[in-house]
Amino acid sequence: MSHDPNCLFCKIAQGLIPSQKVYEDEEIFAFKDINPGAPIHFLIIPKKHMPMLESAQAEDAPLLGRMMESAPRLAKEQGCRPGKDGGFRVMVNNGADGGQEVYHLHLHVLGGPRPWKK
Ligand code: 5GP
Ligand code: ZN
Repeated sequence: MSHDPNCLFCKIAQGLIPSQKVYEDEEIFAFKDINPGAPIHFLIIPKKHMPMLESAQAEDAPLLGRMMESAPRLAKEQGCRPGKDGGFRVMVNNGADGGQEVYHLHLHVLGGPRPWKK
């Protein structure tokens, strides 16, 4: 597994920096956002260091698929309401123009009753 020793989210995924863990398996780590933009807001990251969405290679497609596939399940576990009247948002910020601040790929999952601040 490739980690960047200077990367905040690599340290969180390894348990070197504490977080409110939502889920973990061999490839994926999910934890609550420290500054939530919605009543429910957590991040899903690959354990492997990957700076941006555009850093992903064809060989990473199954990993990206697993991250995306885990979002609805974890969203419901965290209390997001199911279905069209509830739901949640999945978001990736890529680069400065995309609003990215932490350069380890992450899916934002936001949910809970509206209105939200974001
Ligand atoms: P970005 O703008 O890069 O897409 O989002 C980075 C997210 O990481 C932000 O929503 C921010 O609140 C969150 N974040 C930054 N530092 C930490 C931290 O140390 N712990 C946790 N749990 N979240 C963090
Ligand atoms: Zn990293």
